[in-house]
Amino acid sequence: MTSLSHQQGATDPAHEDKCRRCGVSCHVAVPLGDRAIVVDGLHCKFLAEDAPGVFACAVYTDRFAQAPWCHHADVAGPLGYLGHDCPYGVPGLGKQRVSDAEFRELWPHLWRILRSWGVPNFVHHEHFLAAMHARTGREWELVPMSDLSDQPFATDTQQMRLRAVSTSPHA
Ligand code: SF4
Repeated sequence: MTSLSHQQGATDPAHEDKCRRCGVSCHVAVPLGDRAIVVDGLHCKFLAEDAPGVFACAVYTDRFAQAPWCHHADVAGPLGYLGHDCPYGVPGLGKQRVSDAEFRELWPHLWRILRSWGVPNFVHHEHFLAAMHARTGREWELVPMSDLSDQPFATDTQQMRLRAVSTSPHA
């Protein structure tokens, strides 16, 4: 299969060995000012956590076929799609995983953006919804956005929005 331009880059063992398995690049970060903040649970559906804080792609060798949104690190770095301190990336450019204390401070802004922008359909629905339940104390579901022209993530054709699950049988 011919790979697309965003899927092309180095594949040698030295290149592969640089990965720290932090999982940051496989999270969808929320833009906040000039930063991009990682939200735990908001990640590609193929991302697996082998041990606390140690991540791996479940389809790594076949990822460009199964996950067309996935960018090779060589392409992702200059676009800011990797961690800001990633060995493959451009120093200072990219997604940031912040401390719990800072995340709590940023959360009202992140939540507002998540509610209005939604998330791409390729994220892990169960992990994301569980994280939102833990943050808000409410049950949520993901439903397709009605306005398909409003798609902030160009590599995914379907954007999903959060909708509260009603606990009332009459609602
Ligand atoms: S398909 Fe790509 S974005 Fe998804 S987990 Fe694998 S490497 Fe990460």
